[in-house]
Amino acid sequence: MPMNSEQQKHHYDFIVCGAGTAGSVVAGRLAENPEVEVLLIEAGGSDDHPHVLEPGNWPLNLGTERDWNFVGAANPHLNDRKIPLNMGRGLGGGSSVNVMLWARGHKNDWEDFAALSGDPAWNYASVLKIYQRVEDYRGTGDPVRRGRGGPVHVAPVRDAQPIANAMISAAAGMGIPAFENPNGAMMEGRGGAALNDLIVKDGRRNSIYRAYVAPRSGQPNLTVLTDTLVSRVLFRDQRAIGVQTIKNGQIECFYADHEVILSLGAVNTPKVLMQSGVGPEEELQRHGIPVLQHLPGVGANHQDHVSFAVIFEYATPQPVGYGGSEATLYWSSESALHLPDMFHCQVEFPVPSAETASLGVPAHGWTMFAGLAHPESRGWVKLSGPNVTDAPHHSTQHAVASHRPAQRAGEHPFCPGTGRAGPLQGLGET
Ligand SMILES: Cc1cc2nc3c(=O)[nH]c(=O)nc-3n(C[C@H](O)[C@H](O)[C@H](O)COP(=O)(O)OP(=O)(O)OC[C@H]3O[C@@H](n4cnc5c(N)ncnc54)[C@H](O)[C@@H]3O)c2cc1C
Repeated sequence: MPMNSEQQKHHYDFIVCGAGTAGSVVAGRLAENPEVEVLLIEAGGSDDHPHVLEPGNWPLNLGTERDWNFVGAANPHLNDRKIPLNMGRGLGGGSSVNVMLWARGHKNDWEDFAALSGDPAWNYASVLKIYQRVEDYRGTGDPVRRGRGGPVHVAPVRDAQPIANAMISAAAGMGIPAFENPNGAMMEGRGGAALNDLIVKDGRRNSIYRAYVAPRSGQPNLTVLTDTLVSRVLFRDQRAIGVQTIKNGQIECFYADHEVILSLGAVNTPKVLMQSGVGPEEELQRHGIPVLQHLPGVGANHQDHVSFAVIFEYATPQPVGYGGSEATLYWSSESALHLPDMFHCQVEFPVPSAETASLGVPAHGWTMFAGLAHPESRGWVKLSGPNVTDAPHHSTQHAVASHRPAQRAGEHPFCPGTGRAGPLQGLGET
């Protein structure tokens, strides 16, 4: 797999932007066909780091160069607090910094998607077949729902710590049933509690990049570029023909004969689309971006599962289990709801927020990380300016407009700014 080669090709069949969870699957699946040339572009770096690979180290990635470190706009409903939004940056994206919980969508979420789209391909029966094809489940039983032999190694927690088992029995005491695993029958009813399924293989995080792309390393039809920021989608008329990238301050363009796939995560995908001229015309015009296509949904309907941490101190210090999160609970706040609207992910060490950290954090404890499984509030992603270095704004705040730099004389007609990118350096700080 050539990485960052000086003799880089510039034409491919497909260009996949962002090597996170979605991009890794798309690039890996496309590259199964040896006739198809695939380029996968990632802004961050390698995932070969002990904080990525050793399961218990996952919190150590947050706030580092492997995190985009987004911060929401001041929220008037939360005393103007600005809520942090961590997102993975590097090969594997979120799947290289997350808690490694393998968590399927609920049956009725899929039924709702199918009803809303009018397309039965989204219904649970269809998606269940995909889940089965994707998994290599290392637990026992449930052949009706679980899959074996797929690319994603999914292993149940073994030798769980006492606190994980205590949570499950406490839930049972409140009438919340215990399940063998959280990804079978538990995701078809009102919810329940279970020990987790994790994407941990041979004691190491097996991210979605490791599951789908790394095994194809060395295939001549798959090229992965790291530390390369996609700054714009290039269009000829209304058709996406490639992307503009920036690496070490150098602008380059890559062209796709078939398709450009944007899988840059929930914040940067709308940001790059809008900065490329696709989005709500009012927002684009506010920043002097020529409107290629008015598409009001871009940047709208932003959702996240808001959660909060309650820390309990241990009277006697307890060991931290595999990955540090071994039990999960989903439940509905009213029995009439057709799916669970609350979740609780237990973490076996203290996880303070910026605010609670200043109050003092116990040396030994565990965290009840509780959240909304079905938040009804909706936010947005907007621009603070037309340039790749202008940070995205998400949630509630409008940003100050600035101006797109003029096209330089002599630049490639479909690759504006070709060459050295003087004003675009310092890209780590989006
Ligand atoms: C701390 C944390 C814990 C989590 N825990 C879990 C969990 O246990 N289980 C679970 O299922 N989910 C968990 N999640 C959520 C899950 O990881 C994400 O939902 C998932 O990774 C989203 O996939 P994605 O492909 O949409 O985006 P991402 O995985 O974020 O991928 C986007 C990729 O695009 C890259 N990129 C962005 N902009 C550019 C650009 N301009 N140019 C080039 N590349 C770019 C990014 O660097 C990134 O690699 C967690 C997330 C976090 C942050």
